[in-house]
Amino acid sequence: MAELVVSMHMHTTYSDGTGSHQDIARAALQANLDAVIVTDHNVLVQGPEGYHKDGRKRMLMLIGEEVHDQARLPQKSHLLVLNARRELAGFAPDPQNLIDAVNREGGLSFIAHLYDPACPSIKEVDISWADWQVQGYTGIELWNSLSELKIQGKSIYHILFYIFFPHFVNHQPPVEHLNKWNELLASGKKVVAVGGADAHALDAHAGPLHRSVYPYEFHFRGVTTHLITPTALSGELEADKKMIYDALAAGHCFVGYDLPGSTRGFNFTAQGRESTAGMGDEIAAGSGITLNIKLPQVSECRLLKNGKVVQVWKTRETCTHITSEPGVYRVEVYRQYLGALRGWVFSNPIYVR
Ligand SMILES: [Zn+2]
Ligand SMILES: [Zn+2]
Repeated sequence: MAELVVSMHMHTTYSDGTGSHQDIARAALQANLDAVIVTDHNVLVQGPEGYHKDGRKRMLMLIGEEVHDQARLPQKSHLLVLNARRELAGFAPDPQNLIDAVNREGGLSFIAHLYDPACPSIKEVDISWADWQVQGYTGIELWNSLSELKIQGKSIYHILFYIFFPHFVNHQPPVEHLNKWNELLASGKKVVAVGGADAHALDAHAGPLHRSVYPYEFHFRGVTTHLITPTALSGELEADKKMIYDALAAGHCFVGYDLPGSTRGFNFTAQGRESTAGMGDEIAAGSGITLNIKLPQVSECRLLKNGKVVQVWKTRETCTHITSEPGVYRVEVYRQYLGALRGWVFSNPIYVR
């Protein structure tokens, strides 16, 4: 098995970002990413998909789109659409129609920044997801790096602090996201969680002060999605693209916040008497299974069953838990960084049936 570090959800000058696909490629190579998925608003840009190289490094750029109804006020309910065979922004007014169209076109869909409240100090409105009756989507963006600024930025002073000291902004996925995910999983659905950058490389102005807010490379070193794949990337676009989207569709991935320390090397697996399972997979409880957690470094590791913590380890790099109880098992890892206990890894679940 191999691990690929992917940053997804970002914008260029084709929508409201300030950089080009070339700028993104350069920043992603600097940050040692394996792949990026660029998702401009309501446009599926043709052309830039493929490998970018810098010396011996290479990085795969894939293109999706972020679709929402621009006539809706406020502009709620944003959907990340990946790997669809064609442009689907025309379906935006009806989110269920949109999701059905994505599925018909062989794509994946992730509900973006589910809880994205108003932030009056920077005149930003609430653009949360508002259409929870929908069915058939692939998953949710459990952690959105940029929109956490709106949640943490309780006043203009907080916002200014986070603009000048961006390393402090990300704490963990909003509790509203974790609660919603638990609720969706409890209903029996499989819901894949991913981490999004929502990188724009925005320019901020405050009186005489100018600042590029969160350049692409900053985001690429922060909240990412790590995929567990059968092999490393081959350099062949179509095969690699399929492997990445297959892993995302199956939930063979975890959300990592790499700024406090690389989350490469994390894994969560289940060993039964006759079979094994990884994140996103199902396994029969049978006469008992062993859940194995591997951490890149000693940190606070919590195992959750059906949304409730069942065991905590604070001094281990390998953690095991034996169970014969069916349930949805997932892992959250926290570590100290810049004076606070922050989220570090959020695994996809193993579904013990
Ligand atoms: Zn959005
Ligand atoms: Zn976005």
